Amino acid sequence: MFVSDDLNVNSQGNLTIGGMDTVALAKEYGTPLYVMDEDLIRDNLRRFHGSIDRFYGGKGMVCYAGKAFTCLEMCRVVASEGDGLDAVSIGELYTAVKAGFPMERVGFHGNNKTDEELAYALDNGVGHIIVDNISELHRLEKIAAEKGVKAQIMFRIKPGIDAHTHKAVMTGQIDSKFGFALETGEAFEAVKEALSCENTDLVGVHCHIGSQIFDIEPFEEAARVMLRFIAKIKAELGYEVKSLDLGGGFGIKYLEEHDPAPFENYLERVSAVVKAECGSLGISQPFIIIEPGRSVVAPAGITLYTVGARKEIPGIRTYISVDGGMTDNPRYILYQSEYEAVVANKASQERSEKVTIAGKCCESGDLIGEGMPLQHAESGDILAVLATGAYNYSMSSNYNRVPKPAVVFVSGGKSRVVVKRETPEDIIRNDI
Ligand SMILES: *Cc1c(COP(=O)(O)O)cnc(C)c1O
Repeated sequence: MFVSDDLNVNSQGNLTIGGMDTVALAKEYGTPLYVMDEDLIRDNLRRFHGSIDRFYGGKGMVCYAGKAFTCLEMCRVVASEGDGLDAVSIGELYTAVKAGFPMERVGFHGNNKTDEELAYALDNGVGHIIVDNISELHRLEKIAAEKGVKAQIMFRIKPGIDAHTHKAVMTGQIDSKFGFALETGEAFEAVKEALSCENTDLVGVHCHIGSQIFDIEPFEEAARVMLRFIAKIKAELGYEVKSLDLGGGFGIKYLEEHDPAPFENYLERVSAVVKAECGSLGISQPFIIIEPGRSVVAPAGITLYTVGARKEIPGIRTYISVDGGMTDNPRYILYQSEYEAVVANKASQERSEKVTIAGKCCESGDLIGEGMPLQHAESGDILAVLATGAYNYSMSSNYNRVPKPAVVFVSGGKSRVVVKRETPEDIIRNDI
């Protein structure tokens, strides 16, 4: 009935998540509110690492991409599942450190890491650093030498794959700010140089072709391209790269018509390609890393709002205004991302009208969506926007000095706050 099987309707006609009444949650914790089903998050992680066990003999690891959603408790959940974590800034690294995350399972990403961030990563024993460009290699080599340590590195490679997704989240093509190009020989030259570095140890190559990708073919193609590169390095430089990091980007269902491949199919098919290709190239099967972000958390999250004004403009459209907007969900204004919405206290009713859901910020583009089928919504209703678990809280802002919502986890029929709601005092905490 809804985009996620985790959502249902109870006997009062209210929307439930993980079996819990969303209207009651809105009442208890206030709105706007992010609610995430911890049990589903764990289940999604298990589906990914379970598929590595099943189809690739366990010779791999999941590094959850923390940028999709992270906080102390999320780090604890990922740690307790035995998975790894990708971080892309000192703030994400710091969150992992403070959560007691096993830092040897952390990968540090970014196309423009600062010296301060690189030093922080080394000081805290980050497992591997995914080096994006040659100047970063030079800076890292110098910082590692000063500290007398050897940094485990991977190179981020642009494999030249067109992954048919929104251009803002397509990252594998040559015209991208991320990584070394394969076609031009840039990546190969970088590998040569890394092999002569004393304080960096090249353990892997990495690619990430984009996000919200429904098909498995582009991932298979990326694996082939990367394995050929590993084979070339072995043949011409006599060095065998141990790890192959294939990134994330697995698509999820935001709308009924979306039909992403089940998570398990991804590794089933990609590991078959890897095994076959390694056989024909005469290289050892690498340790495989995958970096799902969105697919782990997006389906497990919803956002609850209270409906305020209803504005009917005859012959044009109906605006339903909510007590949040682009500050807690900037994805419509950024990419015109589409979502399913439900009036949580009328969830058993038909969606009888099409409306524009608007936020409360001073921007006409501050919308959650346009032409959204919805039950008749009136002031005081609770509105749920579905599948908001990824890139919502993590992309939220304080534009208009709007305090950020709380994040609540539900699990086994209980709920708890994992990130407190911001207060107006939080808004001025760094003001002098
Ligand atoms: C964003 C990102 C991911 C996760 O992408 P999803 O689409 O959320 O799965 C993984 N790896 C890298 C390098 C990324 O930048």
